[in-house]
Amino acid sequence: MAAANAAYYAKKDPFADFITAPEISQMFGEMLAVWILNVMPALPESPVALVEAGPGRGTLMADILRVIQRTAPDLYQRCNLYLVETSPRLRAVQKTALQAYPDRPVQWLDSVSDLPEMPMIFIANEFLDALPVRQFVYKGKEEWAEHYVYQAGMIEKPVQSLPAAPIFNRQITEGKIAAGDIVEVCEVGQVVIEQVTRHLCHYGGVALFIDYGYAQNLCGDTLQAIANRQKTSPFVAMGEADLTTHVDFLAMREVALKQGGQVPAIQTQGEFLKQLGIILRANRLMAQANAADQQEIAQALRRLTDPQEMGTLFKVMAIAHPAMPPLPAFDYV
Ligand code: SAH
Repeated sequence: MAAANAAYYAKKDPFADFITAPEISQMFGEMLAVWILNVMPALPESPVALVEAGPGRGTLMADILRVIQRTAPDLYQRCNLYLVETSPRLRAVQKTALQAYPDRPVQWLDSVSDLPEMPMIFIANEFLDALPVRQFVYKGKEEWAEHYVYQAGMIEKPVQSLPAAPIFNRQITEGKIAAGDIVEVCEVGQVVIEQVTRHLCHYGGVALFIDYGYAQNLCGDTLQAIANRQKTSPFVAMGEADLTTHVDFLAMREVALKQGGQVPAIQTQGEFLKQLGIILRANRLMAQANAADQQEIAQALRRLTDPQEMGTLFKVMAIAHPAMPPLPAFDYV
């Protein structure tokens, strides 16, 4: 999965195959900017790293910078930009997208292990879902097999030792697993969460991870491939299709809590955007628009927030330094 996605993002235009929230509407980035403006005053008084992982076309960061520059020029001046991106082709696209902000030069990073030593605001939209998972199959009696890719499908091999992952403790202790159930573990994602949380706890700051996934105790094979805007088999034409899985937010949250991060309950994207005022924003944009644009804005609002569309399937997880005040648009349980 790692190799196939590295090849895919290096040579293909992913946005010919799928569309993401920032590409649906500028309102998505604007609401994230509102959130950032709300939390920034609680950060230590110093330069702040504004970091995005997997920035795609750079649209989200450009929308965020536009709002911060206009409404809080002093905070804008404190932001140092970092983009975590492995695809050279997408780095070039991001550079063009951010040309409008020459006073905020971008530094590209290969991985989150290279984060700069300063407080940070970290965002990642549809980043975790692209990271490789391992699939384990429960065989009963505390025994497991692992899926391996073989020709155009999967085969099972016995597992000697399971990786450290919250889901195994949960599934087994709650006795909720049956023979044949599949459990997905995203070790690379767990490491990202660990590193980001450690950084936040040391230097201060906040992180937002937005992705499609589940915040319940679930099993199942969620691997899917998209090519030419259609679902396809993950095993044919590797590197030609985008491979994703649903993010296990319960596991990611447990990893962040274990590192000492403040992690409010996982929020849905619809509720998150509404609490930040996306309906008001849509109404204001519509008041200045012609009839065709009004329809487009209303449709974008629906796609981003409706439970039938992205509103519920997409989740938002925040991680903060433990001393940060409660974060806006989240519930604490
Ligand atoms: N956040 C963007 C793009 C999502 S597509 C949006 O919402 O539109 C996934 C992004 O993650 C792409 O930019 C891809 O190149 C990047 N990516 C995928 N795997 C990565 C990895 N292991 N390290 C860094 N970036 C990665």
